[in-house]
Amino acid sequence: MANVNDRVCIIGGGPAGISAAMYLQKKGYQNYEIYEKLNKVGGKAYSPRISVNGEERTYETGAIMGAKTYYAVHEVEEFGGATHEDGPNMRRMYRNSKGQEIFPFDPKKDFSPKKLLDLIKLKKQMKKLVEIMNTKYRGYDCYGHIGVANGRYYGLSKMEGNALQHIEGVNPNLKDLALPFDEFCRINGVEEVMKIWIGPYTSFGYGYFDEIPAAYVMKYLDTTTAIEFVAMRLWTWKEGTQSIYEKANEKLLHPAHLNHEVVKVERPADGKVYVTVKGPEGEKVEEFDKLIVTTPLDYFKNYADAREDEKELFSKIIHEKYVDFIAKFDENAGPTISGYIFDNMVPERLGHAMVYYHRWEDQKANCPSTVYALRNHLGSKDVTYDYTIRTMEKDMALCGFPVKERLYEQESYYCPHVSPYDYADGWYDKLEAMQGKQNTFYAGEIISFGDMEDTCAASKDIVERFF
Ligand SMILES: Cc1cc2nc3c(=O)[nH]c(=O)nc-3n(C[C@H](O)[C@H](O)[C@H](O)COP(=O)(O)OP(=O)(O)OC[C@H]3O[C@@H](n4cnc5c(N)ncnc54)[C@H](O)[C@@H]3O)c2cc1C
Repeated sequence: MANVNDRVCIIGGGPAGISAAMYLQKKGYQNYEIYEKLNKVGGKAYSPRISVNGEERTYETGAIMGAKTYYAVHEVEEFGGATHEDGPNMRRMYRNSKGQEIFPFDPKKDFSPKKLLDLIKLKKQMKKLVEIMNTKYRGYDCYGHIGVANGRYYGLSKMEGNALQHIEGVNPNLKDLALPFDEFCRINGVEEVMKIWIGPYTSFGYGYFDEIPAAYVMKYLDTTTAIEFVAMRLWTWKEGTQSIYEKANEKLLHPAHLNHEVVKVERPADGKVYVTVKGPEGEKVEEFDKLIVTTPLDYFKNYADAREDEKELFSKIIHEKYVDFIAKFDENAGPTISGYIFDNMVPERLGHAMVYYHRWEDQKANCPSTVYALRNHLGSKDVTYDYTIRTMEKDMALCGFPVKERLYEQESYYCPHVSPYDYADGWYDKLEAMQGKQNTFYAGEIISFGDMEDTCAASKDIVERFF
């Protein structure tokens, strides 16, 4: 039963946690706390400041961009006073595995009749995909996955004009979305689109098309968002994506408690939730009425009194191991534009650099660039972190940009999802049935998709429906 006087605990101060607090506050809740284990909010929206030629600017090591379909993120922007109007333009070129420039989508460059025919085929199939998604797969474009495995849709709409409105309905064809994306494309005769979708999907760390249910691909790259990506009409933030959540956090009645890690959750029969928090002053136990978990659910059992059904369900979660570093180059010896290395976006090339991001056009060849690679794939052996870093550096050298220094590096717990088998088995309906048990609500990336928009929209949905 919703009660605005309830005391609510939010674990995690990333996009999901900060937006959950914002939506609670908008609904009249004044008694909530956010615990964030790090000394900053924003989670994987992390934009460190680096000084180049004596001038300090933000560089991205986590989230970079959005699109006009970032409706929930826009609500967080408006709440905090952030804007995507001032961000740097996205620009890119393409390279092969040898580091040479290629022109896969320009029929005039390296012209051959076959290339032209292939591009015409690609264009036709992209059109076909848009058509079937709006007809055969009507209802696919809402956030979250409730009902999809059973041929239903239920959630906040992503559709322009209807965005963030609750929609629901029946469409048995939606069951196909549990298939791996490559199989989904084959049964619909649109295999060519993978050649484009792979850029904003695999190179952005979201996995390979033979392992990821089509639902994740199409809910993230819904046809409107995909077109915005192809046309490079993207949102970026001068102060970095982190600033969206920092600004919103400042406007909250109760900003996040930084350096406070939740180390224990107990939910005894009295209906309360007892949360042990470890902060600079030691450990303390706080009593709450409700709990919103925005952090990885497969880790929840490590510190919470997880029930058997929680342990069982959460053990099915898989995540990508996405590695990136900010590379510094010798003076005037770095890239001047971002690069996509298409040949490296296949499982056989695990650990290879797939993309590098050049943020500030005016810094030309002196701009530090962020380089990205995946080191895992379902059914393959992981490559090691060290191998990945070495291989990424070699790839950058092949492109003509030997890395002088890595200014920052990380591996992210990235894009939590479930396998096509577990998806078809109704994993999301099982999760939905558990929402609210023992006053616990699950939010964050797993609910819809591992990007800022889907996580913020999931927080909105959960607060709207359960609080
Ligand atoms: C390299 C990279 C590139 C990306 N690019 C994009 C992009 O261009 N566009 C886009 O939309 N998205 C992008 N993303 C994804 C986006 O950043 C994430 O989907 C989003 O940050 C998820 O938000 P979240 O709040 O669910 O989780 P997180 O951002 O992971 O936040 C979770 C927070 O919980 C904290 N925490 C964990 N455990 C505890 C605990 N026990 N107690 C207290 N706090 C805890 C963590 O420190 C963290 O701050 C990118 C991510 C990465 C890593």
